[in-house]
Amino acid sequence: MVAAFAASIFAPLIGFMVVLPWAGVLAAILLRTRQTDMQLVETGARLGHASLERAQSINALAGAACWTAALLMFPWLADGAEATSMLLIIVALMCASTFVYSTSPLSVLIYIAVLGAGMIASQVLAGEWHAVGGAILFTIANLVATIEIRTTFVKSRLAEAAVAEKEAVVSLLLREFEENEADWLWEVDPARRLHSVSPRFAFALGSPQAEVEGKPLLEMIAGNRWSSGQFPPSLHDLAERLKNRENFSNMLVQVSILGEERWWELSGTPMRDEHGRFTGFRGVGSDVTEQRKSSEKIAYLARYDTLTQLPNRLQLTEALGEALRYAVQWRTRCALLMVDLDRFKAVNDSLGHMTGDKLLAQVSSRLQSLMGENQMVGRLGGDEFAVVIRDAGSPQVVSDLARRVIDRLSEPYQVDHHTLYVGASVGSAEGPRDGGTVEEMMRNADLALYQAKDMGGGEHCRFEPELHASAEERRQLEVSLRTALGRDEMVLHYQPVVDANTEELVSFEALVRWNSAEHGFVSPGKFIPLAEDTRLIVPIGRWVMRKACEEARNWPEHVKVNVNVSPEQLLEPGFHAEVVQALAATGLRPERLEVEVTESIFLRDASVARNALEQVMALGCSVALDDFGTGYSSLGYLRKLKFSTIKVDRSFVQGAAQGSKESLAIINAVVAMAQSLDMTTTAEGVETGEEAALIRNLGCDKIQGFYFGRPMTAEDAAKLFRSVRERRA
Ligand code: C2E
Ligand code: CA
Ligand code: CA
Repeated sequence: MVAAFAASIFAPLIGFMVVLPWAGVLAAILLRTRQTDMQLVETGARLGHASLERAQSINALAGAACWTAALLMFPWLADGAEATSMLLIIVALMCASTFVYSTSPLSVLIYIAVLGAGMIASQVLAGEWHAVGGAILFTIANLVATIEIRTTFVKSRLAEAAVAEKEAVVSLLLREFEENEADWLWEVDPARRLHSVSPRFAFALGSPQAEVEGKPLLEMIAGNRWSSGQFPPSLHDLAERLKNRENFSNMLVQVSILGEERWWELSGTPMRDEHGRFTGFRGVGSDVTEQRKSSEKIAYLARYDTLTQLPNRLQLTEALGEALRYAVQWRTRCALLMVDLDRFKAVNDSLGHMTGDKLLAQVSSRLQSLMGENQMVGRLGGDEFAVVIRDAGSPQVVSDLARRVIDRLSEPYQVDHHTLYVGASVGSAEGPRDGGTVEEMMRNADLALYQAKDMGGGEHCRFEPELHASAEERRQLEVSLRTALGRDEMVLHYQPVVDANTEELVSFEALVRWNSAEHGFVSPGKFIPLAEDTRLIVPIGRWVMRKACEEARNWPEHVKVNVNVSPEQLLEPGFHAEVVQALAATGLRPERLEVEVTESIFLRDASVARNALEQVMALGCSVALDDFGTGYSSLGYLRKLKFSTIKVDRSFVQGAAQGSKESLAIINAVVAMAQSLDMTTTAEGVETGEEAALIRNLGCDKIQGFYFGRPMTAEDAAKLFRSVRERRA
């Protein structure tokens, strides 16, 4: 615009032939200046800085020279006309230049200096000496102002950058010192070598500060993977980011420090100096191994059983749900096996929880070893385990696995110098046939398990819809049992026990019988366990005790009565008082009452049981150890209490009769032991004359069994004496 203004003044005076070429040259110079400026903008004032600056200076010089030429030539060609106008144009250009924020301050100075020189020259040529002085002052003032403005500008920009950087450092430091003690600063140079390592970072690296300074970061944290180059994915990722000079924050990196696998959380930013050169990375890091471990641990605990390391109930039910969905979708069959240990409670109670836990661990590893593909075993709690079979194929698969589980778990265990025997029962349900939901499957497999236990353990039962009926039956049986005593449905039968040598009657064992109005005759094998489960055995047992003592009063003085006492009943605080009452009310001599208990009483609360029995013995009663050899036989029990009689279980008698060496050995051992402990032995379940002879030869003192008499009514028992008396008479 200024050039156009100048041209419009001088063209009429000196002609276009002079003005237009001048304007053309100026336009070319301005175009080139503009180009150089754009180049500077594009490169961000970075690359090739020096050469562009030189080009800029040359442009400024050329532009200023062009104007100086106009200043000196145009008024001269116009014979001195419009000299002042031209001078003012130059003054305006100089003033304006002061404020142009060129990327190159030097070019501005050159521009002003050249124009100033031209102005001074024009005044010298005109002989205007005062104006020369003014022009000199004006030029100097302009130059000084330009330098001043540029300096202020650069200083303020530098200050801004410094503040920004300080803020970054301060926030990092604050984080290091306040937020988390485990955080540290880290810094690497462009070659990714550690730089200004802080003591805390050196500690994290596991080496002294001086040793790690200058070492490649990756070498320090890759451990022995450094040589192989086989980095874990996270470390590989870090290496990539560093190589590409990319920003990253809170990146989880798996590192290896002194051979130990650890997890770091790293953040980093690439750094540049004031010329924009990459100077490396700086960031913060922290060791998050413990947090990771604990969160992994929490996740683990939620899904695994701590004792056995097997999947827990949560995981099992999830797997079952998944298996059910799969089975429905693909029209296949999944299965759930519930496994319960037989006699585990005995181990736990007699040998303690530590031993019990060790046994469970062994059980788990045996179970685990039996699992095949798409089979998952887990622990539901206590001694209950479950197996989920995702695709069971045929029912054979389920029964095969159940059989293998039972067989394997029934093998002896070696725990803390004890050889332990537990068995297992299995109940199974198949989905979706036996249940469309996890809950239904669980309930039905449980019913099947209950049935298996009911059959005496060591069995596998499949779920059948009738089991619901038998569970219902059991419930109804329980309802009836509650009212049995009140309705006078219970009676006692008495089975004779004879001297093995003389075959004379020494006592009667009282055995309870229940003739239910709703269920007819119910075997004690069925209702006694139910009564024990529901604690109904306490009132029933009390009644039996009273009734048996009453009846025994009718028998000859030398005939004893044996009364079975369940653990629940014995452990009742009032047991001793009940016995006293029964004896007092009936007038039976205490010596004629023998209480029969099984080993299971010692499995619960051994000391309470022992106290109760000792109190009874203090009255003068005797105590027999029933079913010896079937429970969790430990000879230790025999030393704990002075039993009067050990009753050898029917299974050994039958075994011995069939020639089983083991049974014979056990009977021999029991007899020998009893003799040494001053106890007597009774063989149970002798059914034939041969068995009786065998038992006699083995040295048992007393015999009880169908051969000498079945359990009989009280009248029949009384008749027995009458007939003996009559015969004697
Ligand atoms: P137990 O105390 O071992 O009683 C002996 C069982 O063996 C009786 O079965 C008896 O009938 C049976 N038995 C006796 N001799 C022979 C034989 O030669 N061959 C065969 N095969 N069996 C024989 P029962 O009466 O069915 O009683 C079963 C169990 O019920 C008893 O076993 C006992 O544990 C329990 N029980 C019975 N009455 C009572 C009671 O009044 N209170 C308590 N707590 N339990 C009782
Ligand atoms: Ca008995
Ligand atoms: Ca018995």
